[in-house]
Amino acid sequence: MRASNETDGGATVEAQGSGETHSFQAEVSRLLHLMVHSVYSDRDVFLRELISNAADACDKLRYEALSRPELLADDPELSITLAIDKANGTLTVSDNGIGMSRDELVDNLGTIARSGTHAFMEKLGQGEGSPKLIGQFGVGFYAAFMVAARVDVTSRRAGSDEAWVWSSDGTGTFTVEPFAGEDAPKRGTSIRLTLKEDAKDFLEPWKIEQVVRAYSDHVAIPIRIATIEQKDEEPRQINNAAALWMRPKSEITEEQYKEFFGAIAGIYSDPALIIHYRAEGRHEYTVLLAVPSEQPFDLFDPERRGRQKLYVRRVYITDDAEFLPGYLRFVRGVIDSEDMPLNLSREMLQNNPLVAQIRKAVTKRVLSELKKTAEQNSETYGKIWSAFGAVIKEGLYEDMERRDELFEIARFRTTTSPEGETRSLKDYVGSLKTNQTAIYYVAADDATKAAAAPQIEGFKARGIEVLLLTDPVDNFWTRTALGFDGKPFRSVTQGAADLAGIPVEKSDEATESDAQDKPALGTLVAAMKQTLGDAVSDVRLSDRLTSSPVCLVADVQGMDRNMERLLAKQKPGAKHSQPILEINPTHPMVTGLAKRAKEHGVSDEISDAAWLLLDEAYVLEGEPVPDPAAFARRLSGVMARILG
Ligand code: ADP
Ligand code: MG
Repeated sequence: MRASNETDGGATVEAQGSGETHSFQAEVSRLLHLMVHSVYSDRDVFLRELISNAADACDKLRYEALSRPELLADDPELSITLAIDKANGTLTVSDNGIGMSRDELVDNLGTIARSGTHAFMEKLGQGEGSPKLIGQFGVGFYAAFMVAARVDVTSRRAGSDEAWVWSSDGTGTFTVEPFAGEDAPKRGTSIRLTLKEDAKDFLEPWKIEQVVRAYSDHVAIPIRIATIEQKDEEPRQINNAAALWMRPKSEITEEQYKEFFGAIAGIYSDPALIIHYRAEGRHEYTVLLAVPSEQPFDLFDPERRGRQKLYVRRVYITDDAEFLPGYLRFVRGVIDSEDMPLNLSREMLQNNPLVAQIRKAVTKRVLSELKKTAEQNSETYGKIWSAFGAVIKEGLYEDMERRDELFEIARFRTTTSPEGETRSLKDYVGSLKTNQTAIYYVAADDATKAAAAPQIEGFKARGIEVLLLTDPVDNFWTRTALGFDGKPFRSVTQGAADLAGIPVEKSDEATESDAQDKPALGTLVAAMKQTLGDAVSDVRLSDRLTSSPVCLVADVQGMDRNMERLLAKQKPGAKHSQPILEINPTHPMVTGLAKRAKEHGVSDEISDAAWLLLDEAYVLEGEPVPDPAAFARRLSGVMARILG
């Protein structure tokens, strides 16, 4: 998050003559430390980061100049120049883009601008200070300190008459002072890196060219190289600078796509899926989007913008037009319209009917491409789903209109899916048991817990598949979903299980209802109900248990057990509904208790057992027992009776 101006970028300031010394925000210092100690092979990325910032600055200026053409004035051709000065050991990256004012220098370069950075550093920090991941993420301006002992940024905001210099050696402080030299840049930013002793290879033009080709070939602004020795020659362009999305698919290599998404979207792993097409007809536009194969570190950051960039006839307009719904926010890329007006303000975009139409069409296309991948390439789709399934599922309750389509591409771990594989709802519905009328699920914090829930024993015994839901969003969509293919979703921890009509498959665990002493069990249930009073809303015999003696279930109205647990954690003390205690009529402990209840009536033994069984049910849910002291007293009593 950008710090506000009052806090001056979270920095402390000391005036020093005309300049000022500031401390970096604490997070910046940590990131700088990681940068400085980064692995050698990752260092190339500093150039990609500086070029990408320079290109953004040019795009921003071009956009502002649409309404204020005087900003481009006598220097209309935007470009990026990489200047090598071997004698002084410096590499300078300059652009004639938007530039930065003094305050922007302090805010943008002294503060972590990106709100996901914190999470990113946590991740990096875990790896014993060897941040191997750096190259895979957009790490921003600070990457300069991977190669530079000192960085001097001179900048003049377009239209301003003052230029400022920001300097730092990357060890905790930076200075900002007015530009005092001879020829101040007319506009834009110039970043001079005084290279470290072991980074002098970046003074070789071939090395620079190689890195630019690898990472920035399709940055749509010309990148030129210049050396002090050849001062009088025109700088030579070293990138392609063409809008890749305008070229036919058949002419683009995988490497080029990869480089492109690295440059414009910070996706540095191989994209899992690339969607590239030209829409013709009523409206003409080109779409080039990618689904990454890995989660970006800021996936769940609601403030992260720049998911899809809008261009109008190759001119960058904005990156917050939101061409896709929030649950597809991991899809990144470019949409370039031929028909929209160039002088479209960002605010106007919100209500532009053309934008709305493109949004609809592109969303449809992305979903159909995902579906195609799911059907034809389950390995790739498996990667996409494991990285982004939790996000796509947000659509199950946000986007009613497309819910059925989303159900088709949703994948689940289930009680019958082989380790590491998932099943679709179509698979599920295709293997329903005779008389099974619902799609059953169990929600828990993780799959192991979900699979171990006592409530699913009876389902397993009958060979009924149960979805194992472990994402927080699962608690929400399951409450509003109407069903799939006419089958409602039912939590196994809620309501009656209704399993009587489906025969048990494994005969050794069979519920021999004939052998049950119904009257004795009835007496036990009544005795337990009386003992437990308000602690439960009911006690009943279960057909969902085979090996555990007890479990808790929730009423069919209201929420399932997992949701109840979540709410209880969030609002301890709030009133919540009492669970139903189900007991397993085939468990020896239960049959034994039933026999006693029939023979001796309700005794202290039976009531102690009732409370202990309730406590056991909580323990089986992974929850603390409601009254530990009473639990301990009863348990000791029972043990003493056995031993005595
Ligand atoms: P990001 O590019 O993700 O915002 P960076 O750390 O790369 O993060 O850059 C921080 C900010 O500094 C940018 O958002 C931009 O506002 C500013 N900035 C960096 N380089 C330039 C430049 N060459 N011209 C103008 N502004 C720049
Ligand atoms: Mg950047």
